[in-house]
Amino acid sequence: MTEKKLRLIPTGTCWCGCEKEVGLGKFFAPGHDKVAEAAVIAIKYGSSVPEFLHAHGYGPHHSVSRAAVDAGVWEECRECSSEPGYRGTAESVANHKRKYHRAEQ
Ligand SMILES: [Zn+2]
Ligand SMILES: [Zn+2]
Repeated sequence: MTEKKLRLIPTGTCWCGCEKEVGLGKFFAPGHDKVAEAAVIAIKYGSSVPEFLHAHGYGPHHSVSRAAVDAGVWEECRECSSEPGYRGTAESVANHKRKYHRAEQ
């Protein structure tokens, strides 16, 4: 279900706008992706993540993390005893499993 998007190319300068030079193939200096994200949410949603979620149709009754799993861009841990299991990127779920389910393997 992933749609083809315009491919963005790193330019050698941090995309948060701080004008720092960054390594080959990188868009951001370490942690600056979060800075950029927070700035957009500040401008567009008054720094409110709930407003941001609501504007995109998500909230407590329409789970954004479930939507990410359903869209195939995130995974959900099936080994968790809780329901739903831990959700995140494939890398994040792999880390979670190493940390919390290692004894069961
Ligand atoms: Zn930056
Ligand atoms: Zn789990």
